[in-house]
Amino acid sequence: IAKQNGRNNVTFYDSTMTLNSVEHLKIQSALHEAIQENQFHLVYQPKLSLLDSKLVGLETLIRWQHPEHGVISPAEFIPIAEKTGLIHQIGLMVLTMACKQGKTWLEAGYQFGHLAVNVASLQFQRSSFIDDVEKVLADTGFPANRLELEITESCMMYEPEKVINDLKRLGNMGIQLSVDDFGTGYSSLSYLKKLPINVLKIDQSFVADIPDDSNNTAIAKAIVAMGHALKLTVIAEGVETKEQAAFLLENGCDQAQGYFFSKPQLPATLTPILPQM
Ligand code: C2E
Ligand code: MG
Ligand code: MG
Ligand code: MG
Repeated sequence: IAKQNGRNNVTFYDSTMTLNSVEHLKIQSALHEAIQENQFHLVYQPKLSLLDSKLVGLETLIRWQHPEHGVISPAEFIPIAEKTGLIHQIGLMVLTMACKQGKTWLEAGYQFGHLAVNVASLQFQRSSFIDDVEKVLADTGFPANRLELEITESCMMYEPEKVINDLKRLGNMGIQLSVDDFGTGYSSLSYLKKLPINVLKIDQSFVADIPDDSNNTAIAKAIVAMGHALKLTVIAEGVETKEQAAFLLENGCDQAQGYFFSKPQLPATLTPILPQM
């Protein structure tokens, strides 16, 4: 449009803009407000050992309760927070809130294995990320060896040497490291072998429809075999049925997480069912 009317001025809106980009802008400005007004809270989803159904961890998931629009899914706003850089603030807030909750649970004698926090790609790439994590652990008193960071394959695509170094530093602090949504990115086996990681999380898109879908069934089996060959723990996400859980157990998958076992929950409902020391 700016070209058409022969000037240098940039037109903010043009008719080719999709509703999505308008929504995008709305969410972006609403996100600023949400940070200011504390519209976020956290829920926690149990991870279980398939062999004995014991709780092995909790995954922290952010929720945005907008005063007018209701609950907005992180799948919708995290990518926008990444594009605008707000993810740094939001990510740090999630880590801090989760570690505080974890510390509270530990002090009350509750057992939950590892407390996992998702890390967005941009967050991981920031040069201060490791120092930030260290500071949150020091400030909250949450032990590093109870913390797990879930990192996606996309975090690992840039500057492999730096990624390996950063993961080593985090691992040396005692933090458990997992690759989230595994299978949806492009990490090669040789690269994966060099990474100081502990857990592979089979993406839920491969868990859907097993054992009926023969492709997904083959992929899930292959990831378990690959993970075990690399001496990693393998967990399946998005497990919704008894059949899926049985198939995963039969095929050697170590752990599982999903609605079949438990939905993500508020601390108030989760705490009473956590095992105590
Ligand atoms: P993710 O880390 O792969 O988390 C798993 C998602 O699957 C969560 O969606 C969870 O609620 C959902 N889920 C769990 N069990 C089942 C199931 O049995 N069936 C189905 N259909 N879904 C299941 P959620 O909470 O909407 O989060 C979506 C994504 O947003 C997460 O995917 C993660 O990538 C991102 N996210 C959530 N919280 C945070 C956060 O605090 N920081 C960052 N950076 N990303 C986050
Ligand atoms: Mg995750
Ligand atoms: Mg995942
Ligand atoms: Mg996923």
